[in-house]
Amino acid sequence: GFHGDRTVWAICGYPLFSFLFEFIIYFLTLVFICRPALLREQHYQYLKKGLRHLSDAYECLDASRPWLCYWILHSLELLEEPVPASIASDVCDFLARCQSPTGGFAGGPGQHAHLAPTYAAVNALCIIGTDESYGVINREKLLDFLYAVKQPDGSFVMHVGGEVDVRSAYCAASVASLTNIITPTLFEGTHNWILSSQNWEGGLGGVPGLEAHGGYTFCGTAAMVILGKEHMLDLKALLRWVTSRQMRFEGGFQGRCNKLVDGCYSFWQAGLLPLLHRALYRDGDSTLSMSRWMFEQQALQEYILLCCQNPAGGLLDKPGKSRDFYHTCYCLSGLSIAQHFGNKDLHHELILGREENRLAPTHPVYNICPEKVARAIDHFHKLPVPVEITATADPATES
Ligand SMILES: [Zn+2]
Repeated sequence: GFHGDRTVWAICGYPLFSFLFEFIIYFLTLVFICRPALLREQHYQYLKKGLRHLSDAYECLDASRPWLCYWILHSLELLEEPVPASIASDVCDFLARCQSPTGGFAGGPGQHAHLAPTYAAVNALCIIGTDESYGVINREKLLDFLYAVKQPDGSFVMHVGGEVDVRSAYCAASVASLTNIITPTLFEGTHNWILSSQNWEGGLGGVPGLEAHGGYTFCGTAAMVILGKEHMLDLKALLRWVTSRQMRFEGGFQGRCNKLVDGCYSFWQAGLLPLLHRALYRDGDSTLSMSRWMFEQQALQEYILLCCQNPAGGLLDKPGKSRDFYHTCYCLSGLSIAQHFGNKDLHHELILGREENRLAPTHPVYNICPEKVARAIDHFHKLPVPVEITATADPATES
């Protein structure tokens, strides 16, 4: 009978084997079935819908419509989902209507040009990467706009009559370098102004004297890389500050000291580590790893995959928050940074979970895919740098 069999098995050590067997099955299930999965299809559907018709919930973002184009197009390129040519063409038409007659792009048609949507529009057009999309950008007028927002101390205001902060220097440096309109005087003094925003914490504040913040630190550092002056920053202090922003328990990053974790800092903070790696390498640091960035790449992937995905598609700040295209873009960008070390010559992948979780790599300076950066630079460097207008050309702008 049953009891008899059990006694025999018990003598043979069955309970122990049974326990081990069940443990192994449980472990394998965890590893192979419950491995954290990127909800590709759900994210794709969410982004596709967003690109076609932006819902009423985004009315408050009416002044940021080029941003929505960039966040969605970049998320799609990370997921390696192609955009149909007709939709890409519609986006070009829309962004052309956002371009100001006096240069630069505005948040929507008929509004005033502003550096933030200018950055977003140029990035979106470079992601599309066609002659049509490149042709939208009026480079001569763009240069006029950059001179109009440039300040005598090297900083930039976000728009004519607007506020100065380190974001504007990055937006200006990014669009000017991609479209090949950097003149000898455009960034005169800019690196010294950015340097003065690095504070005692090691990170950079929005303007000199303010608390160090992930978004501004990324913008300032990336701008210094574009200007070829990153070695002038206190790189070791910056490294200490940014690595301390990855949270021990959550695995994600906080934006500032003593703040909560937030998925979007997966890019603003983790994106600094490729920039720092390259800067320290150029400085001759021989202790650098040739296969890993200096943050916990696996822990960041766990945070994004386990805590930042909406089951219906889209990514978010932290559990309990709602999804949006901004967090979708920067969570995916951070995931890509955590998956890929190095560039073409020296490339190591660390993909947490299934192989299908792999995203395309992103360029850590521009945050668009590296081949799109190369293609844009290729295209615009065949064109001459526009001739700069002298400051006295328009007496109306002199005060
Ligand atoms: Zn956030």
